[in-house]
Amino acid sequence: MSGETLQVYFLGTAGALPTPSRNPPCIMIRRGSDTILFDCGEGAQQQMMRARCGFLVNAIFVSHWHADHFLGIFGLVQTMSFNGRTEPLTIYGPEWVHEFVAILKKVARFNLKFSIEGVELAHGSWVRFDGYTISAFGANHGIPALGYILDEDPRPGRFNRERAIELGIPPGPLFGRLQRGETVKIGTGTEQRTVNPEDVLGARRPGRKIVYTGDTREVCHGIRDVARDADLLIHDATYDESEAERGAEFYHATAAQAGVAAHVLSARTLVLIHTSSRYPDAAAHVNDAKKKFAGPVIAPNDLDMVEVPFRD
Ligand SMILES: [Zn+2]
Ligand SMILES: [Zn+2]
Repeated sequence: MSGETLQVYFLGTAGALPTPSRNPPCIMIRRGSDTILFDCGEGAQQQMMRARCGFLVNAIFVSHWHADHFLGIFGLVQTMSFNGRTEPLTIYGPEWVHEFVAILKKVARFNLKFSIEGVELAHGSWVRFDGYTISAFGANHGIPALGYILDEDPRPGRFNRERAIELGIPPGPLFGRLQRGETVKIGTGTEQRTVNPEDVLGARRPGRKIVYTGDTREVCHGIRDVARDADLLIHDATYDESEAERGAEFYHATAAQAGVAAHVLSARTLVLIHTSSRYPDAAAHVNDAKKKFAGPVIAPNDLDMVEVPFRD
């Protein structure tokens, strides 16, 4: 469907170490009836309770196998099983995903009522969902690490009602068929005519795009080609400018580097995430990023939700 709501819940925004107010990374994306997780840090299921966004997760995309990004899967899977889940769960991630899923099943001494499959992704891999694609790109984090892009299919163009009436189409079900891209016939016998959707629809309109870098140093090659024009660029911003050297050493980005990435990639909104526990708040991070990027910059708190609107 082209008119789905697209909501992003920031269930965990901490970097590496949790704090009393920030959980390790977990981003839930709800689109229509689909629920996708980008990373699933420790305590993610309690954050889902607090955010009241449910446990009906269709798929989990793990960016890399540092514990702050996957420890929440263990508890979440047990809770899903207690809740009587029977639908299969797919866990996507870079190399080592199969070992992780094997360990997950091995340590689970409870009656797992659904199947769990691990799928290994690499730069350029993609997974098709109904109405959108999630693709992976290589991040720069010192170990195999991926970022993810959720890319909606283009939407049909606007329906030109006046033009349709001019062409003799009676308002009613035929309007809907044309809007869905179907060709319709009107009239009978020798008077019969065909009206194509292109006759009454404007140019196709872009879908929405969310880019999540996971943990990464400043903008890497992989991202430049594929991550342009994101409606939401969710970028590693572990450090502020005073710690830029530390960021490079530990394969993380500063907020200013996230700002540069947002500028270079023509993002619409920049979201700073993975804030190091050394900072009491992310105010300096937002200021650093705003010096490099003219668009809106957000440093969400845990449980914040952002709704991503269509561009027009
Ligand atoms: Zn991390
Ligand atoms: Zn990491």
